[in-house]
Amino acid sequence: ADEIQKLRDRKRAKEHEIKDSTLPEIAIVGRSNVGKSTMLNTLTESPNTARVSSKPGLTRQLNFYRCGDKFVVVDMPGYGFAFAKEEDKTAWKELIEDYLGTRKSLKRIYVMIDARHGLKVADKEFLTMMGATSSKKFQVVLTKCDLVSPPDLARTYMVVQEELKKSFKNAMTDRILMVSSYTGAGMNTLRKDMLFACGQ
Ligand code: GDP
Repeated sequence: ADEIQKLRDRKRAKEHEIKDSTLPEIAIVGRSNVGKSTMLNTLTESPNTARVSSKPGLTRQLNFYRCGDKFVVVDMPGYGFAFAKEEDKTAWKELIEDYLGTRKSLKRIYVMIDARHGLKVADKEFLTMMGATSSKKFQVVLTKCDLVSPPDLARTYMVVQEELKKSFKNAMTDRILMVSSYTGAGMNTLRKDMLFACGQ
């Protein structure tokens, strides 16, 4: 009976917490250390950006940043090495089922990939997990592009594109973005892309 009550409480909390927002949302995911926070800082440094207060429960793991009156960027937790812990896997499955896969105001999912490494095992595991539960499209952003030479970057781009085409049907393979938070390269394109994804 306790367990049932807990489940009921959880369901109620969820319905209460995750009200669909009126602004379009953009979710950002990636392996820990991929450069997600740095990119978010660069992206949201304009005075028009406000961090929307964290909410309890599921969304405690998510940070919402309002970019002017246009859209909200949602910072998802970083995922770890090859989902070693079963509880991490379960938590991510819930985030995919309850947020990434079903959120109506979510217009696009951006998956950050380190330009030096391309898709790693953890990325493939995450994308497989997401593809199994959700039919939402996602787009890849190669990060830290200042650390690789142009020929290496071009090679990684093609390898990643091929892997996405082969294994991940929800990937938008014709538009892989490349950014560097350090030099600012690609950041304007990313911003424009987000606006476009939000129908602006
Ligand atoms: P997160 O765990 O994905 O949030 O990663 P962080 O944003 O904390 O970045 C991880 C490390 O990569 C830090 O040491 C950053 O300074 C570095 N980093 C982040 N973005 C860039 C970038 O565009 N270029 C370079 N060279 N380093 C970066």
